[in-house]
Amino acid sequence: MKKTIAIIGGGIGGIVIANKLRNTLPDHVRIMLLEQNKMHTFAASYLWLMVGQRTTDNISMPLNRLVDKGVDTVFEEVKSIDTSANRIKTSAQTISYDYLILSPGADLDRKYLNRSGEGIHDFYTFEGTQKLLEALNEIGSGEIVLAIEAMPYKCPGAPYEAAMLIKDHMNKRGLSGRINVNLYTPEPQPLPVAGPELGNSVSRLLEKKGIRFFPNHRLSEVNPGEKKIGFDNGREQSYDLLIVVPKHNPPAFLANSGLTDESGWVPVDKSTLQTRAENVYAIGDTTSVSIPGKWQNDKPMKLPKAGVFAHGQALVVADLIEAKILGKKTAATFCGDGFCMLEAGEDLAGFAYGDFFAEPNPQVKMKNLGRLWHFGKVLFEKWWLSPAGIRKTLYQNLLLAGGRLLGIPIKL
Ligand SMILES: Cc1cc2nc3c(=O)[nH]c(=O)nc-3n(C[C@H](O)[C@H](O)[C@H](O)COP(=O)(O)OP(=O)(O)OC[C@H]3O[C@@H](n4cnc5c(N)ncnc54)[C@H](O)[C@@H]3O)c2cc1C
Repeated sequence: MKKTIAIIGGGIGGIVIANKLRNTLPDHVRIMLLEQNKMHTFAASYLWLMVGQRTTDNISMPLNRLVDKGVDTVFEEVKSIDTSANRIKTSAQTISYDYLILSPGADLDRKYLNRSGEGIHDFYTFEGTQKLLEALNEIGSGEIVLAIEAMPYKCPGAPYEAAMLIKDHMNKRGLSGRINVNLYTPEPQPLPVAGPELGNSVSRLLEKKGIRFFPNHRLSEVNPGEKKIGFDNGREQSYDLLIVVPKHNPPAFLANSGLTDESGWVPVDKSTLQTRAENVYAIGDTTSVSIPGKWQNDKPMKLPKAGVFAHGQALVVADLIEAKILGKKTAATFCGDGFCMLEAGEDLAGFAYGDFFAEPNPQVKMKNLGRLWHFGKVLFEKWWLSPAGIRKTLYQNLLLAGGRLLGIPIKL
């Protein structure tokens, strides 16, 4: 019987699962990918775009070129879902499904976005990053301040990478003695979920680069008139260029779906990514996945929001749905492994790798800075942004071979 698998969100998780399902399931199973934007931009590369190491064309590609031909892309905004009737309402139609995968990521709060005219910038949106590059090329002296508005935010390493790349960019512009880079976060340490050892390694990196780091600082107000920001502990900081990591909100269309918890995100089984509803799975930034045995302020700590997890979860859910449809057995489970190449400027990167579900604590280690890790990140970017064909296969083989050589079980 003809079945329809609907995937909401054509970002990292959505692209991976759509392609994997199309490659393994027969043509009579319809794979439908619902996405509001025709153009895909690779967020991890915004950091390089921000300091002029990429152009906008380098890091964007029409979504239809990144997904296999047999995937049915529908460029419409999803307005609501009804899991009791297996229906999705979009801006243009109502769609019925047999299996549903939610991968709509996170919505960014608009409060501090599109305010470059007031000297407030971001590198979490494609447009914001382009404006930030202009500002970083114009500033001649003073205080660059990067502030994280709220937790959770995607890619827990990104603000730290951004601070180091900006510092490097200022050094290249010959402004090392005239510009200070300051980084404020509500977190007690960098990447708290990965433990104190990794946090200390990142703090030392920041110190070595002369970046002023202020943990436990929650942004409470921005005064663009006086170019000052305030924190809930009473501290104030003046700025010449302000960069805010905006608050992340759960996707609005999920609010009345019955699938969310009190935080608004979608709780899922950590191994199967199954939601409360039958045949409905959620992956990536939209999920709320508790880390076993890990608590902070009486609340379970959550798996970070990162592309590497969206990707790994997509592969697992694809296997589970294939097994159901084809009547096969599968042992696929998401085991919480993840890695991150932490860009530090000067074409160097650190490499953090580990098991986030390990008990009693996640086991995540960071390797010393090296060109190899930077090269690995560039290779991944090339692989991600290549349409199917010779180049994609070449990059894929290089990544897999590199992983084997270094003992890192990469799955693509
Ligand atoms: C600057 C930066 C650097 C990063 N670096 C890294 C890194 O080095 N490593 C890493 O692992 N992660 C990194 N990330 C995080 C990574 O990009 C995200 O975690 C990842 O994209 C999450 O994948 P996803 O599929 O859950 O959501 P997304 O990739 O965000 O995709 C969601 C998609 O859903 C669509 N959508 C949302 N709502 C609707 C709707 N109602 N209707 C239709 N479509 C909708 C959106 O348009 C979007 O295309 C970085 C992020 C940023 C911003």
